[in-house]
This record gives sequence, C-alpha cells and structure tokens, in this order.
Amino acid sequence: MDEQKEVQKEQNVLQATQTVIHKALNKLGYSDEVYELMKEPLRMMTVRIPVRMDDGSIKIFTGFRAQHNDAVGPTKGGVRFHPNVTETEVKALSIWMSLKAGIMDLPYGGGKGGIICDPREMSFPEIERLSRGYVRAISQIVGPTKDIPAPDVFTNSQIMAWMMDEYSRMKEFDSPGFITGKPLVLGGSHGRESATAKGVTICIREAARRKGINLEGARVVIQGFGNAGSFLAKFMFDAGAKVVGISDVNGALHDPDGLDIDYLLDRRDSFGTVSNLFKETISNEELLELDCDILVPAAIENQITEKNAHKIKASIVVEAANGPTTMRATEILSQRDILLVPDVLASAGGVTVSYFEWVQNNQGFYWEEEEVERRLEKVMVSSFDNVYKVAAMRNVDMRLAAYMVGVRKMAEASRFRGWI
Ligand code: GLU
Repeated sequence: MDEQKEVQKEQNVLQATQTVIHKALNKLGYSDEVYELMKEPLRMMTVRIPVRMDDGSIKIFTGFRAQHNDAVGPTKGGVRFHPNVTETEVKALSIWMSLKAGIMDLPYGGGKGGIICDPREMSFPEIERLSRGYVRAISQIVGPTKDIPAPDVFTNSQIMAWMMDEYSRMKEFDSPGFITGKPLVLGGSHGRESATAKGVTICIREAARRKGINLEGARVVIQGFGNAGSFLAKFMFDAGAKVVGISDVNGALHDPDGLDIDYLLDRRDSFGTVSNLFKETISNEELLELDCDILVPAAIENQITEKNAHKIKASIVVEAANGPTTMRATEILSQRDILLVPDVLASAGGVTVSYFEWVQNNQGFYWEEEEVERRLEKVMVSSFDNVYKVAAMRNVDMRLAAYMVGVRKMAEASRFRGWI
C-alpha cells in the first residue's frame, strides 16, 4: 500500500472512532464539550530512540505513547512494534483502550504505545536495546500508578521483562506493577497469554446462546492464526465446534467437515505457518464469505467493508482483531440482522487479565489459574450482558451500545473531577 493510502486508512480509523464516540455521547445526553475532551488523547509523547545495531551502526527509531484519559485511573494499554505504526493509529488505539476499560469496568483509562520498527528483521539483542531505550525515553510519564504498558502486535513477555527490568533499575526498586504480560516467574499472571481468546470464546458462547445456535457442531471461520486466532481455534475445537476455515498471513484453509486444529497447531509450532500445508488454499476474501455460523476476524483492520458485508453468510460476527469492520459494513451487517460483537468488547479479555496481573503485583499475592478464569468469566459475561441490554433498550447496534457503556464512566469521572 502506498504511503498516501496508509495515512488515509489510519485517519479513517481515528475518524470512525471519533464519530461513534460522538454518537454515543449524544445518545447519553452529553454536550459537545465532553466530546471535545474525549476525541483525542490528553497526552501524546513522541520519542526518538538511538539504538546501537549489531553491525556497530546507530539507528534512530521513532516511538509514541498516547494517554487518552486518566480521569478514572492510570492509563493502560499495549506497545506495538510494527513498521506501519503511526501517531494517528496509536491515538485511535489509546481511545479503544479507554473504551475497553470502561466496558469491562476496570479502574483505568486508555493508553497505547508503538515503535516504528520491524522486529522480524532485528536480532534479539537489538530488540532488547530498543525496548530498554523506549522505557528510558518515556519513563517520566509511565509507572505503576500512572500508565501501565503491556504486549501488543509483535511484542511479547520477553520484551515486557526487559522493559520491567529497565524501569526497575532506573527507579532503583523492583516494580513488577509497571507493566503486564510478564513471564510468570517475574510476576506475570496465569492465563494472561490466552486471555484475549478466552474472552472472545465467552463472547461467542453468549452471542450463540442469544441467537439459538448450539456451539457443539457450530461452523466457525477464523481469520488469523496469531495469539488470539490460534488459542481461539483450539478453544472452539475443544468445545466441539467445527472450525471450517482458518487463515494466516500466507493464505487460508477450508474444510467443510472441520479442520484438525491440534494437528495445525503442532505443524505451526514446528514450521511457523499453516497455510502451506495444503495444496489447495483459498484467498482471505473467500474465507470471509464462507458458509458458516460464526465468523471471527482475528487479524487486522478493515477486513469487512461495504464491498463484502452483504456476502457474509455467518449469523454472528465476533471481532477479535481491533477494527476489522468498517462503519458502513457495521450498518449493513446490522440491517441484515447479523449479530456483531464489537472489538472493544470481544477483545477486552487481554486487558482484563492484565488488570488481574497488576492487582496481584500490587498485593504481592498470586492467584491460581482457576481463580483468574473464574474472575474473567464473571467480568466478561456481565459486560456482554450489559452491552446487549443497552443495544436492545436503545435500539442501537452492539458497537454503539458498547461505546455508550465505554464512555459513560469516563465522562462521569471527568465531571466529578471538574474537568467538564
Ligand atoms: N494490547 C492489548 C489490547 O489491545 C492488551 C492491553 C493490556 O493488557 O493492557 O487490549
């Protein structure tokens, strides 16, 4: 994609978010001043990070940290390492984090970070130096009671460990609560790695129940085989659903009788990709239009658009990725009576277990896996129920309902603080 289009796309993501926030605030009876406060992050930091590369040269990387709104509590959200990271994208993502925290009723506002880099082309020591450099550069505005980073696209528990170590060294005390998504031995939480997929699974179950679909035998298509997509495929497979289609960056697989997910996971772990396993693969476009009951876009933005929304055959679409459905497509799906569970609700399991991790770090007492799962289940079910009820009561789609739930606490907290 050329640069112009890329910029346009991200602007659209931010603009689309702002439009829905505006609508949600209007529906709730808030003035345009409240919208003015919420349409952009309160704080945005751009940093330039010099890193010594393995060949001895110095490369300067650009990074961002956006803090959308800290009326409710410290801001929270992941850091992504990707060549396409832009300031606009990081802003939009920080707003989404505020919404997720509001929907899940967590004591946080939204934050997000990103570094323009391609970790797939960097060595581990280079990634380590970049991660540490980023923490040094943003150290003044982050911290366990200010803004708490976490993993996101192309960042993982090892990177969180380096960042936590750098922060702890700088502050001269051990600060596990500075960041979440850490390895277990450094104060990570059980269940964090699969939390996003667990949350999506709960949303699928709740949506299926309301649509009268039995999960056992239900046909599921998943776009994406990354962290969320692969755990989700496994959970669906184990629940007796038939995963009839799945894709990764190289292409998509289809089997109307259901794919053997255990086999695919095993091959992926050994060979890194799954779509090369079969001679006949289908395209990503065909995948989305497959005959199925439940469709889960778990890859990237803008996948369901006005071009393919009327060709979707699923009766439930659950957004495990951030922003996979455009605004126009959301309208089309809703007119067609397809139940769309929006990203800000469906993918909020990750930040919820991050919250549990932070709580455990703060209290210095750690929970067993069952405890984490029980609590996630409870928060997810009640959040789904809440959004579903608002959608029904106000006669709006689930996305607008989720935004209404998401902005309400933030608006109330901002009002009590005397900001608006
Ligand atoms: N990056 C994840 C998200 O977008 C998790 C954020 C967190 O755990 O704070 O929801």
